[in-house]
Amino acid sequence: MKNIMFIAAPAAGKGTQAELVVEKYGIPHISTGDILRDISKEDSEIGHYVAETLASGELVKDDITYQLIEDRLNKDDCKNGFIIDGFPRNLNQAIEYDKILSNLGYDIGHVIVINIEEKTLEKRITGRRICENCKSIFNINDEQSAPQIESVCDNCGGKLYQRRDDNLEAFQTRYKMYQEKTEPIIEHYRKLGVIHEVDGNDTVENVFKKVDKIISGDDK
Ligand code: AMP
Repeated sequence: MKNIMFIAAPAAGKGTQAELVVEKYGIPHISTGDILRDISKEDSEIGHYVAETLASGELVKDDITYQLIEDRLNKDDCKNGFIIDGFPRNLNQAIEYDKILSNLGYDIGHVIVINIEEKTLEKRITGRRICENCKSIFNINDEQSAPQIESVCDNCGGKLYQRRDDNLEAFQTRYKMYQEKTEPIIEHYRKLGVIHEVDGNDTVENVFKKVDKIISGDDK
């Protein structure tokens, strides 16, 4: 199966869609945000640097992300396809990513852009809750994706938490970063003919139907 890359603004639903793809197709989900959040818990120089950067909404230095992506893609479970979410985040990272893929003998695959309105994102950001155990994502501002019991994961019973950067101030920085740094990579991949755009102003299920059509080659 083809590799999948999601590009979307913060809280546009990349993580949720990636989880659904994992459920259906069983390929690994590689999220640089998740990997960096794990590193931010380490009591080390890099751990402290990553924790502060994440809380501010700025991007972590490119070099750190290259190493962790290369190490992760080198693992055996990526050989039959993977989903990459949160990387690349700027044009330099996209150029480096293309090189890493070619060194490993992998194709870019499908690049799926989820388009969504800024107002919707603000509402989602403040309501997002994540399971600290299985990383499932819920939203207390949305009936459809709210957990049945507040603070408890519907899937595994784990405790739900709110990300430190899920507040309006950090969102505004992250959204600006997305527009300035990440959006230009859409054009980079458009030239390579691998871009698919999906309207994300819809229910999780309907967005997934569109994503799934792309994956199964049924969107043409
Ligand atoms: P996410 O979970 O994708 O929203 O990422 C959360 C935060 O992790 C971002 O706001 C950045 O600080 C950092 N981050 C994630 N991916 C990258 C990346 N590819 N390059 C630099 N920083 C990143």
